[in-house]
Amino acid sequence: MKIAVYPGSFDPITLGHLDIVRRAAGIFDKLIICVMVNADKNPMFSLSERLAMVKKATEKYKNVEADTADMLLAEYAREKGAAVIVKGLRVISDYERECQMALMNKKLNPDLDTLFIPATEKYTYLSSSLVKEMHKYGADLSECVPREIIKDITDKQ
Ligand code: ADP
Repeated sequence: MKIAVYPGSFDPITLGHLDIVRRAAGIFDKLIICVMVNADKNPMFSLSERLAMVKKATEKYKNVEADTADMLLAEYAREKGAAVIVKGLRVISDYERECQMALMNKKLNPDLDTLFIPATEKYTYLSSSLVKEMHKYGADLSECVPREIIKDITDKQ
């Protein structure tokens, strides 16, 4: 069984993330979305809120699971029996940092590879920080986040 991990802070999950989930779920037998504790030092949503939103948004994908972790990703992947880490790449500037992390993860766990999936063009501008900025000023979020979680965001003070 080919298992992959898709890590991130998902603060909150966006349509860009969801697009990567859908495409990765089509490649692997099982995809574990891992909401990481240390990915963002000052998140707007708590870990359990972020996990709940990821679960709601990905319920329809039968081979997708959501989890949280507070450990090194290379170690987490080993525990889960995952051989691949999935990352979405929006712009070339994402590549430098992502490549650095991929090489470090490979060093920590030589059995682990990183698969970069390029963002779909219409989502290349989208980020969780942009969503938070839009929410702050009461903008419409329907083209940015999965509809199942819009209320969770607008309810947040
Ligand atoms: P953000 O960078 O928006 O705070 P995360 O840290 O949660 O997001 O990112 C988790 C993963 O999702 C990373 O691999 C990131 O590059 C990817 N990602 C983020 N936004 C998008 C997008 N709009 N399209 C494709 N991949 C994305």
